[in-house]
Amino acid sequence: MHFTHEWLPQRVRFATGGAAEAVAQEVRRLGATRVMAIASDATRAEPVLAGIPVEVLHTDVVMHVPLENAERARAVAAEHDADALAAVGGGSTTGLAKAVALTTGLPIVAVPTTYAGSEATDVWGLTDTGRKQTGVDRRVLPRAVVYDASLMLGLPVPTSVASGLNALAHCVDSMWAPRSDPIDRTLAVEGIRALSTGLPRVVEDPMELAGREQTLYGAYLAAVAFASAGSGLHHKICHVLGGMFDLPHAETHAVVLPYVLALNAPAVPDLDRRMAAALGADSALAGLLALRDELGAPTALRDLGLRADDVPEAVQPILDAAPPNNPTPVTPANVEALLRAAWEGTEPR
Ligand code: NAD
Repeated sequence: MHFTHEWLPQRVRFATGGAAEAVAQEVRRLGATRVMAIASDATRAEPVLAGIPVEVLHTDVVMHVPLENAERARAVAAEHDADALAAVGGGSTTGLAKAVALTTGLPIVAVPTTYAGSEATDVWGLTDTGRKQTGVDRRVLPRAVVYDASLMLGLPVPTSVASGLNALAHCVDSMWAPRSDPIDRTLAVEGIRALSTGLPRVVEDPMELAGREQTLYGAYLAAVAFASAGSGLHHKICHVLGGMFDLPHAETHAVVLPYVLALNAPAVPDLDRRMAAALGADSALAGLLALRDELGAPTALRDLGLRADDVPEAVQPILDAAPPNNPTPVTPANVEALLRAAWEGTEPR
């Protein structure tokens, strides 16, 4: 056995119902006295921020972090002489805090309110004139993450489902992504189990804490696995589609995932068996399709705003981005077939 696994240094707290206290402790540990809080929704964030010295609450959050938003937030941090960032929100909020940390080095305490998982990665993303750029930098990794499932109770069911399937996609891609190792795969399989147990409960009763906790736990494992394994074919496809056609992030992942699984799983039967076992099904694809039906997840890219004419345009950028070690060799024909099927929402095979 030969592999090198690098753990990212981060404190992680699960504190259902106790975010404010946990955040206050984490901010004290950092010795911070002038916190810039970033949140997409002030009303949701304020109770979480109650115990910390907030110098300014910044709510100018936009998905995919347009460069001008990042620059405005950096200026606010400088103007208020902030010495730490507290991000309360989904991936877009964490993403804006990361953009500030990238240039200032300010430490982040992240309180996620979706299942996106950005809080557990050292990946940043910025959009400049319609092109999304990503990079890896240790400065953007939040120093501490506080997970409080009670903050998720108001996340609408369709957003919860798409976001949870985005997390599931982190797990699936981590099984075969370029740096995937046995530790990533172990985390990913446990993530699949937790997400596929938690998400149906969220749909059945969005106000039940236990389902929210399972899903959040799965989303964290998914992100840790993904941060280590890197982007596999699925994420490359979604990144290209999201960047070129401004598709909604989590929903695009939810639609595309079964098609990538259908392409790759037959080439890696041992991994397929492990994912299938975690999903409680005969094959990973059967398990994912059953879960998708149970959750009422989106099934076609055409419903997300992609036009049929857009499909051929995306093929070459996907081929350029595809990882060379993808289990099934990626060709113009199979990428185009995958995109067409995902556009129409036909049965993934
Ligand atoms: P988001 O943060 O934009 O949130 C989606 C919507 O849900 C927003 O309208 C938000 O206000 C609302 N919302 C969030 N939490 C809520 C709650 N608890 N109750 C009610 N409403 C709530 O979307 P997202 O899917 O979390 O994040 C997507 C972004 O994150 C994308 O830009 C993506 O690229 C990025 N991302 C980055 C990484 C990384 O590692 N860098 C990983 C995953 C996602």
